[in-house]
Amino acid sequence: MKIISTPFELKEYLKNETQTVGFVPTMGALHEGHRALILRAKEENEVVVVSIFLNPTQFLKGEDLDKYPKKDEADKLICKLSGVDVLFLPQAEDMYGNDEVSLLAPKVRGYILEGESRPGHFNGVLTVVMKLLNIVNPTRAYFGKKDAQQLNLITLMVKQLFMNVIIVAVDTVREKDGLALSSRNAYLNAQERQEALKIATSLRSATAMVMRGVLDANAIVENMREILSPLQISYVAIVNREFVQISRVELGNTIILVEVVVGGTRLLDNIWL
Ligand code: AMP
Repeated sequence: MKIISTPFELKEYLKNETQTVGFVPTMGALHEGHRALILRAKEENEVVVVSIFLNPTQFLKGEDLDKYPKKDEADKLICKLSGVDVLFLPQAEDMYGNDEVSLLAPKVRGYILEGESRPGHFNGVLTVVMKLLNIVNPTRAYFGKKDAQQLNLITLMVKQLFMNVIIVAVDTVREKDGLALSSRNAYLNAQERQEALKIATSLRSATAMVMRGVLDANAIVENMREILSPLQISYVAIVNREFVQISRVELGNTIILVEVVVGGTRLLDNIWL
């Protein structure tokens, strides 16, 4: 596995690449969710590039940028054992200039739900993903459905900016008890982790309601809020795949999203129906 730490060097390294390239951008503290993206990229491409970059521009002031879990050596080992060909570990100063050119997330889709909890967050996400895609120039790039709004906005960016990359959505990987894997789960103590299970329970209950034929969004959201109580709920929402709020579940075109804060840790999850 080749480790590269500057954008210039990586561009040079991949300049004459004629094989298909699969790219998996991450912020590190890798877990099985990240590995699912890597393994999918390996299945579908000849060369796999993973980036680990804790992108400062997608964190708001007062968020967890400074305490975000770092596991550099374990991450390298996971990448190596997963068959990654190139690991890209850039520094913020090499990714950004002083007088920064950046992208703006759409005014509505970028500022509802996660974008309302974290105003400006998606500007940072789109800017860094654009930069990374330009550096790697992959055939396909892999993103988790767990971050559904991020995935939606990146797909929209690629379409609206006429970019030449295929965005691949990968299913959420969960613990046996249903908790979606997340680097931020490391912040949870035993009691908080137990409380966090309500998220998966609420989504399972929502699915069961839909299977029973209850399609009314208000009824489903109400039920989920009851299950999540007394956790601090940032939002529970039902949207279509274009991220427009809907009043009735449309099978095959619906995402039910939830974000709660457990002991100061923001946890998000969703289910695609
Ligand atoms: P992050 O390191 O949190 O920025 O995540 C990097 C990529 O991994 C993003 O595309 C995430 O959506 C994806 N990801 C994170 N957690 C999971 C999970 N539990 N299952 C599948 N993909 C995930």
